[in-house]
Amino acid sequence: MAAIASDELVSTNPATLEPVGSVRRTRRENVTRSVADARAAHELWRNVRLPDRAAVLREAARLVRVHADAIADTIVAETAKPRTEAIANELYTAVDHAAWLANEAPRVLADERVRFSQLHLKTKKAWLLYEPLGVVAAITPWNFPVILLAWKLAPAWLAGNTVVAKPSPYTPLTSLMVADILKEVVPPGVLNVLSGGNELGAHLAAHPGVRKISFTGSVATGKKIMGYAVEDLKRVTLELGGNDPAIVLDDVDPNAVAEGLFWGAFQNSGQVCTAIKRLYVHEKVYEPIVKGLVERAKKVRVGDGMDPETQLGPINNKMQLERVMGLVDDAKKSGGKIEAGGTRLEGSGYFYPPTIVTNVGAGVRLVDEEQFGTALPVLKYSKLDDALEQANRTHYGLGGSVWTGDVERGRKVVQELDSGTGWVNQHMDITPFAPFGGAKWSGIGYENGRWGYEAFTELQVVNTKKA
Ligand code: NAD
Repeated sequence: MAAIASDELVSTNPATLEPVGSVRRTRRENVTRSVADARAAHELWRNVRLPDRAAVLREAARLVRVHADAIADTIVAETAKPRTEAIANELYTAVDHAAWLANEAPRVLADERVRFSQLHLKTKKAWLLYEPLGVVAAITPWNFPVILLAWKLAPAWLAGNTVVAKPSPYTPLTSLMVADILKEVVPPGVLNVLSGGNELGAHLAAHPGVRKISFTGSVATGKKIMGYAVEDLKRVTLELGGNDPAIVLDDVDPNAVAEGLFWGAFQNSGQVCTAIKRLYVHEKVYEPIVKGLVERAKKVRVGDGMDPETQLGPINNKMQLERVMGLVDDAKKSGGKIEAGGTRLEGSGYFYPPTIVTNVGAGVRLVDEEQFGTALPVLKYSKLDDALEQANRTHYGLGGSVWTGDVERGRKVVQELDSGTGWVNQHMDITPFAPFGGAKWSGIGYENGRWGYEAFTELQVVNTKKA
């Protein structure tokens, strides 16, 4: 992404470094106009019955499916991720999430009666009303431009809110395209999309007309968002970075888990908040696990996502590529051994091969920080307690997993991780039915399921005295 004129935002293909297209940056005064449009739309939208809002959401999901090919082309142009992944992991998953919520909403998410004890039952009657908040700012990153927006739009709309979205400056065209498609079914003002960089996001988040900020992105930005919320006591949901540990126990069959571990770390070229970012392997199975990962790292096809042979695309942007390269170089200086990868691929794109680093431990930046790219430190342990202690010692707490031949043992061990989600023999599986959120610095609040919906509501208790 580079600006060729100060009011133009150019989206760049990270595989070719060719411009994909450009959009006009939203001016600050137009943020106020979008918030005002969203406020006006909210007065109408909040009075649409919940089943009718759910019907609009179902239609929106249907339209995304109908236009999946065109949207996938834009996602791939802006991210160069494999096209099949853009369709299956991003678009269809977003559609499924939205459709599930739309179907559940009238049944599960309706207002409720308050249960009183027998003592008060005869004299009082009360209801809980799930009221919308108003205008929601939805601020999203570039790694999954559609699904991360969908996780905000679907519950926010169902609850009767309207949205002003500020997508990443690296993927502006995808979000604008989706918004344009949805115009056919979503009433004017219910979705407004701004185009611009970090300052625009800050301006939107601090705008007094916004009642809730739903943010997905880095920990550093999340902390700033909390600051913008203070003045008006805005509600916030923060889905932030992770440094997910995966712990491989001594009882695994290395051949059975190597594939899952590899893709748990490298799917979407490691640019997933819940990717495996540190791997702790018991000494008994360490060598074969490293071998299995190295074999896969050397074999996997890295390239432009438009090529059907491609399994891993590039790193999305120059800043992120330099960060990943810097972390690997730092690990090398700290005595790390590069088992595979470790050098930027030749050519113009931001390609960095899957890189396996051993002989590193706590105190090395690649282990302590979130790399968000194609580099994985693999650490050897002998005592499980030590591995758990190492796994829990960072500020992060998004996800974590345990890999074992004994699922019941894995279920017990994974509960020792300080993380929003704990997986056994898998990683990254996120469902619409369960809450998704981070412990510690990885976030505040939840997305998905009933919990994600409630995050876009304010409760009103209507308490009546019986005559
Ligand atoms: P980022 O925090 O730099 O940017 C995210 C969004 O926030 C962008 O739209 C950006 O323009 C905007 N922004 C940046 N500074 C801002 C400010 N001061 N005020 C308001 N908005 C601002 O993150 P990124 O580099 O785009 O994305 C990568 C990060 O996102 C990683 O840390 C990753 O783990 C995290 N992430 C988390 C989840 C999750 O659900 N927990 C999902 C995907 C990505």
